[in-house]
Amino acid sequence: MTTVGILGGGQLARMLALSGAPLGLRFLVMDTAADACAGQFAPMVVGDYRDEAALGEFVSKVDVATFDFENVPAESARWLAEREPVFPSPRALAIAQDRLAEKTLFRELGIPVPQFAVVDTRDQLEAALAAVGTPCILKTRRLGYDGKGQFRIKSPADTAAAWDALGAQAGTVGLILEGFVAFERELSVVAVRGRDGEFRTWPLTENWHVDGVLSASLAPARADDALAATAFAHARKLADALDYVGVFALELFCRDGELLANELAPRVHNSGHWTIEGAETSQFENHLRAVLGLPLGDTRMIGRACMLNWIGEMPGASAVLREPGGHWHDYGKTSRPGRKVGHATLRADSAEELAATLERVGIALGRDAQTAPVVAQLRGEPMPL
Ligand code: AMP
Repeated sequence: MTTVGILGGGQLARMLALSGAPLGLRFLVMDTAADACAGQFAPMVVGDYRDEAALGEFVSKVDVATFDFENVPAESARWLAEREPVFPSPRALAIAQDRLAEKTLFRELGIPVPQFAVVDTRDQLEAALAAVGTPCILKTRRLGYDGKGQFRIKSPADTAAAWDALGAQAGTVGLILEGFVAFERELSVVAVRGRDGEFRTWPLTENWHVDGVLSASLAPARADDALAATAFAHARKLADALDYVGVFALELFCRDGELLANELAPRVHNSGHWTIEGAETSQFENHLRAVLGLPLGDTRMIGRACMLNWIGEMPGASAVLREPGGHWHDYGKTSRPGRKVGHATLRADSAEELAATLERVGIALGRDAQTAPVVAQLRGEPMPL
């Protein structure tokens, strides 16, 4: 009996555990919060990721370890890797944790990125602003996610406010200034690489964010073969350079038909949740297959799929459950503003069928603002603003 250890006990760990059950796997989850939602399905070690006693208990009970949360301290990952196999590697994790290291690697590999400059002091912010120009975004280098740790600078007049908001973190997690990309669309590649280097991607996914948090994903994205091939080539280069094992997502901005890399998420990803029902093998199952050295599953899609995130609180399930291709995921969390509490995936055989389904669901739930951009994309209409 193989036990997979997962650092972080949120919805990603929960969905990993659910997908691993048919493979006969057991799981052990470690989280700082005793009520982490993966704990409803797997035994837990509750403790700080820097606590050697807790880490020691965790590692003594698992055969392999992986992550649901990329901000586990890299030194804790290294400590674990001295005792049991850890995938993705602590090196891949450390690079993905740091927006500067990540963007530097993208650039080295010839993957285009938005303009960026490092900011460690107030003076450097001025210099970076002069180099990058406005509009731009000041971000923490580390520990930021879902739009947290970011400040948008529309004009130089916002500089003081940006420094007030994030300057205190310049000396701890570091800051980076990025040019604001007036993208037409956001895309992601969700990909998997096995222990033997085998590499597969799911179809390119298009994503819509609200306040920096993913709101909806559509697969396949409306993209020509050349754009998809470029996106997949970037992902493959990155995976090979990092000797990456497991699932990851590469988030991309698409501007004037050109792709710019935003970030690498070293784990299963919210924009790949549609694969549970929309693909032959889900990202969760393939992540487990990869870290265990099993053959990877087919990543082909079945029709088309749209995932809608539920943020803050769950809506009623009926409008989705009554759809033939409607699937419901409640993460078993308590409601809290801004928190990802669940998602729905709508699957259909054609673009028009999926558009009609989304329209019905959006209206029934009073969430047509969330579904409208996806419907417009499916119908090939110009995007609503
Ligand atoms: P991140 O945490 O970097 O993934 O940012 C969250 C979201 O903020 C992205 O998905 C974009 O919608 C937006 N964003 C982040 N960086 C930029 C940028 N340089 N230009 C434009 N939008 C951005």
